[in-house]
Amino acid sequence: MKALISITALLVFTLLGCKQSRPLSHEELLKKAKVLHSKMVTIDTHTDTPLAFLRPGFDFGGNGNAKSSKVNLQKMEQGGLDAAFFAVFISQDELTPEKYTHANAYALQIFDAVHKEVSRHSNRSEIALLASDAAKIKGENKRAIYIGVENGYPIGNNLSLIEKYFNNGARYLTLCHTRNNQICDSSTDPEGYIHNGLSQFGFEVVKELNRLGMLIDVSHISDKAVTDCIAASAVPVFASHSNVRSLRDIPRNLSDTLIKAIAKSGGVIQLCLLSDYIKTPTPYPTRDSARQVLRVKYRNYQNLPPEVRQEALNAWYELDEKFPPVLATVSDAVDHIDHMVKITGINHVGIGSDFDGGGGISGCIDASEMTNITVELLKRGYSDDDIAKIWGLNFLKVLTKAEEYAAKMKAN
Ligand SMILES: [Zn+2]
Repeated sequence: MKALISITALLVFTLLGCKQSRPLSHEELLKKAKVLHSKMVTIDTHTDTPLAFLRPGFDFGGNGNAKSSKVNLQKMEQGGLDAAFFAVFISQDELTPEKYTHANAYALQIFDAVHKEVSRHSNRSEIALLASDAAKIKGENKRAIYIGVENGYPIGNNLSLIEKYFNNGARYLTLCHTRNNQICDSSTDPEGYIHNGLSQFGFEVVKELNRLGMLIDVSHISDKAVTDCIAASAVPVFASHSNVRSLRDIPRNLSDTLIKAIAKSGGVIQLCLLSDYIKTPTPYPTRDSARQVLRVKYRNYQNLPPEVRQEALNAWYELDEKFPPVLATVSDAVDHIDHMVKITGINHVGIGSDFDGGGGISGCIDASEMTNITVELLKRGYSDDDIAKIWGLNFLKVLTKAEEYAAKMKAN
């Protein structure tokens, strides 16, 4: 009898248990995601939004043309995004002293534009410098804006400019962009490698970044340059916007070996939301040839005067409407997170959208849709703690390590 009662109790318990584990509906998941976003600190480590700041009529508050940028304060508020790194991005030219001087002046102009835009909206945003600022600024109900520099090209051969950028608020340096520069080889330079990883000067750059407490961003750089950075850096390195090569085989993505090496160094890889890096694009000849026509007309979008840049952008929007892109989905993107978690554990993965620099996928087209990533993570069974790690804690831990190392160096 006693056994029968226990079996009945077990059955009732199991049935109740089953009832409780009914999968949540999309609305319920979204509600849960929003609650989570209100509690945790969410950070996107790579956006190219400052490119929009130099456009006439742009409004960072979000009252301007809704299409004019993928990140603004309104979209961050809607998507529950507390903090974002704004990249001072410099496209590359020749490696000559004259061009370096020009690039540095342009970089300083972008820094200036970021500070001006943030102070113009000081009731809703604030420049963040320390890892702890993200939570502090969230507590004031504002958005935290960090600054990173994408491409070490503008420092030329002048190490002291790194400190100048640091004093202007920069907290990471992406060593190069799509081409080899004076610091290291790029993963995508059509001419092949010239340094076999970091250059001699590149090793000095890594040391200087460590001394200042700035992070070394290994996105874009060649495989050998990544391993050189891990070996040379006194603190963990990170990839501000990079994906998994074994899921999408392009040199710009990271191999499993490199992902494991970055994780082993204590670093973090931030998932990039650029469709072509997530999934092989479906062939779309009419769109591709229309894009090629624009590319030729606007000289590959390089060094355009502001009026022409605006015209090119409008033409781009028109093309997108006429031939809507077939984009990777949030589920495709989270497959990359799953893979990284599978091979490194939960402590080495984050998010760096590349919004306004090519980022934007179906279901997370701009900062206003960030909650959908959380919905997908919940759907796949990630715990609240895991999600908080992915959305910011993992990255902030790495930034804290860089700060601590710099403080220790200063004290000695
Ligand atoms: Zn990039």
